[in-house]
Amino acid sequence: MELLRPDSAEAAAAALGNGSKALAGGTDLVPLLREGIVRADTLVEIGGIVPRGIDGGRIGAGTTLAELEVDPQIPDALREACRLAGSPQLRAMGTIGGNLLQATRCWYWRLQFPCYLHGGDRCHARDGVHREHAIFGNERCASAHPSDVAAALVALGATLSTTRRRLPVAELYRLPTDDDRSLTTLGADELILELEVPPADASVYLKAMDRRRWAFPLVGVAAARTNGEIRIALAGVAPMPWLLPSPAALEDATPLPGTTYKIEVARALVRRALAGIGAAG
Ligand SMILES: Cc1cc2nc3c(=O)[nH]c(=O)nc-3n(C[C@H](O)[C@H](O)[C@H](O)COP(=O)(O)OP(=O)(O)OC[C@H]3O[C@@H](n4cnc5c(N)ncnc54)[C@H](O)[C@@H]3O)c2cc1C
Ligand code: SF4
Repeated sequence: MELLRPDSAEAAAAALGNGSKALAGGTDLVPLLREGIVRADTLVEIGGIVPRGIDGGRIGAGTTLAELEVDPQIPDALREACRLAGSPQLRAMGTIGGNLLQATRCWYWRLQFPCYLHGGDRCHARDGVHREHAIFGNERCASAHPSDVAAALVALGATLSTTRRRLPVAELYRLPTDDDRSLTTLGADELILELEVPPADASVYLKAMDRRRWAFPLVGVAAARTNGEIRIALAGVAPMPWLLPSPAALEDATPLPGTTYKIEVARALVRRALAGIGAAG
């Protein structure tokens, strides 16, 4: 395997695609490479070239979760989502750009079952063990998006800039289709450079997990209030961060037999989150 260290974001983007992958903190990518789940001929190290740091609402994609969780410029929901993600060691290495693009934790996918997301024709989790899986958007792939951070950014109405375009964070994600099994809209040769997070009047992130620390969200709820507008986004409930138009929309969930409990958990967390930002539940 070759390791490239380009000197600009443009040169890095030009080196991507065709069997090469961007390497930031490596906390997600390196284990996937080691297990042979992701294959790459070339790694393109982006550590020194993707912006890193916080300036008001602007966050470089190379900023670590550890840097974000302690910075008072960062809205509460995002700080808390970062603080509750992984372990201190992972947060010290893991960047926000990499967090947004982390792969699914679905064990069938990680064990390389030939499932829908791997290009096959069925979702093994639907018929198998799926306690941690999705309650929304789960018709083809029932994986649960693992990023606390993405849900917080979607609730906050954040946007991101790439080497090609600017887009709302919500539009970074998609549900897989028969033609395209990808869960993101990012091109293979596109780099996330920066995020812009608008100020919120109040925001919170609440997370239900199997352990008090170092566990992925069973359900994560981010809520933000800005100029009277309330936005709620959920982690761990759909193959992508899930924007919830209203608390009543939880009744539209399509749980699998083993994930029905997540609706009750989400109801409780949404109620608490709305109280936390001073909005009626
Ligand atoms: C055991 C464990 C527990 C975890 N728990 C949680 C949790 O509870 N909540 C949570 O939200 N997260 C959790 N995570 C995820 C963790 O936060 C991410 O692994 C980390 O943030 C990824 O960042 P990285 O810089 O290491 O990315 P890398 O591993 O370097 O990259 C990840 C992916 O993103 C791509 N990439 C990285 N940066 C860019 C960029 N700027 N532009 C384009 N592509 C890019 C890489 O090519 C790769 O595909 C956990 C991870 C582990 C391993
Ligand atoms: S939930 Fe998605 S990733 Fe998991 S087995 Fe089903 S199709 Fe594959």
